[in-house]
Amino acid sequence: LHGTYDPDNIFAKIIRGEMPAVKVFEDDQVLCFMDVFPQARGHMLVISRTSKARNLLEAEAKTLGRLIGATQKAAAAVTAALKPDGVIVTQFNGAPAGQTVFHLHFHVIPRYEGEAMGR
Ligand code: 5GP
Repeated sequence: LHGTYDPDNIFAKIIRGEMPAVKVFEDDQVLCFMDVFPQARGHMLVISRTSKARNLLEAEAKTLGRLIGATQKAAAAVTAALKPDGVIVTQFNGAPAGQTVFHLHFHVIPRYEGEAMGR
């Protein structure tokens, strides 16, 4: 699970402005943006703009604190905006666990009563 951070991963490019993204909010430390292949309406991703952690296991405590705070803010914002019936907050570590982009991120996925999850 430990490896070399690829500075050209998709999220790094979004942070540098080399790839477009629909941003929800950002500050000097964190960025929240819409998932381009949403699993449900309002699916967002929350990332650190400064950390080179590829996954949760590599993250520094300070980064994690900022990230989880921003993730809570994203979950609260989407709940206020879209009125889902529930919200999933999750993340994957390593390709066998389902991770495809190797820049630590939290998923915020609203859930709606009676709606199946999927793309
Ligand atoms: P993972 O499986 O690594 O946790 O999820 C990566 C997420 O990034 C997926 O939900 C995928 O839809 C999303 N994603 C992949 N490429 C892009 C992109 O270029 N832009 C945005 N906004 N999301 C992306």
